[in-house]
Amino acid sequence: MEQIITRFPPSPTGFLHIGGARTALFNWLYARANNGRFVLRIEDTDEARSTKESTDAILESLEWLGIDWDEGPCYQTERYDIYKTYIQQLIDNGHAYYCDCTAEDVEAMREKARATGKKPMYDGKCRDKGLPAGENTVVRLRTPDTGATVVEDVVKGATSLMNSEIDDFIIRRSDGTPMYNLAVVVDDLTMGINHIIRGDDHLINTPKQILLYQALEADLPVFGHVPMVLGPDKARLSKRHGAMSVGEYKNMGYLPDAMLNYLVRLGWSHGDREFFTRDDLIELFSLKALGKSASMFDMDKLSHINAKHIQNSDPEKIAGHLIPFLAQKGVTAENDEFTHGVIGTLQARSKNLVDMADGAFFYYADSIEYEEKAEKKFLKPAAVEPLKKSADYIDALESFDEKNLENAFKQVMEETGLGFGKIAQPVRVALTGTTVSPGIFEMILALGKEKTVQRIRAAADYIQSRENSTPE
Ligand code: GLU
Repeated sequence: MEQIITRFPPSPTGFLHIGGARTALFNWLYARANNGRFVLRIEDTDEARSTKESTDAILESLEWLGIDWDEGPCYQTERYDIYKTYIQQLIDNGHAYYCDCTAEDVEAMREKARATGKKPMYDGKCRDKGLPAGENTVVRLRTPDTGATVVEDVVKGATSLMNSEIDDFIIRRSDGTPMYNLAVVVDDLTMGINHIIRGDDHLINTPKQILLYQALEADLPVFGHVPMVLGPDKARLSKRHGAMSVGEYKNMGYLPDAMLNYLVRLGWSHGDREFFTRDDLIELFSLKALGKSASMFDMDKLSHINAKHIQNSDPEKIAGHLIPFLAQKGVTAENDEFTHGVIGTLQARSKNLVDMADGAFFYYADSIEYEEKAEKKFLKPAAVEPLKKSADYIDALESFDEKNLENAFKQVMEETGLGFGKIAQPVRVALTGTTVSPGIFEMILALGKEKTVQRIRAAADYIQSRENSTPE
């Protein structure tokens, strides 16, 4: 079987948005699932609106998502010579012709068609004039007058459009630059693209593109047009529904794997399963399971999926994404065993990486600031003895593990006659500054013996010096 080659061709006129990322993902997955190739093409022929910043932002978001490409990025603006050759070929074999009609001429034709109840379009006036190239000539494709153009779509099924409804459309402007549909078809053809999955907002271009393939005597690719992503109010997803760009989700602390998992479910399904790793998706993805009906973007679902991915990912993998969030809080963390231990205590408690960085902060702090309420409640003079004893017993442990930590606390309980809470709560405040944290033992194990002992002693000293300096 022929190797599957797919593509993602963003126009660099803004960031990578949710819908674009989903299109890229479908094409990438289909290539990866079938040992195919995935091509990245930058459609920058609209030179007034295309920017280098947008291209960079799109590439960065794709890289963050882990959507990698086998070829490209190729830029349409560097391919004008290729388009020229194909346009010339179409002219030479009679499928295209020069036209010198002015915009006013064409408007008059449209007006005439409207007046007789026909579809307003160019009427083919220059078709058989055999005009030469000139300063003010465009090139038009000679489209068939009879029959129909059928789009066989793997998602939507077959739709057909009467050829009488398609006018001889422009493929080259008078300044020599190619029109959008011509560039897309020449690119897809020369890049060997045989599967095109894209949003159904492009369906309007597909019959014209098919006519171009036919004029070039080329095989058609497989087309799949996926319904647009909608907002919760069923209107097309837009800014007013919330963040649109992939970069914003990165900044909000979503994991790329969670984003992929969520995006793929906006149009693709595998029974009613919701959780997929990247490898699951590569194994299971197929075009057959792309849905016909539009999906709604649901922040709560995304947030839920993200929490699940945080829970199930390897701490080492999470660390790479978490470290920049810690850096924003002034914490320099390494992707090392300490950080992996910290993450291990927070995975079940964090919805996103912003949460996780908040929860991780105390582990890295040089000294602990006690929250007022926590201090009042737990760092009382009566806590000095259990704190000191806890520090001593923990310090004396030869093997620093959960079992021995439990024993150390038991010994403090026996010696002081206090219940577990009366010891553990002051210790928790000593270590974290607050009353809410991961489980005491797992937290101590992640923090390490030295920091634990030092922080507990610091809290005992703090209580004593506070008591000594405050008058009764
Ligand atoms: N450049 C187009 C876009 O960004 C995609 C064209 C296509 O998929 O054929 O919407």
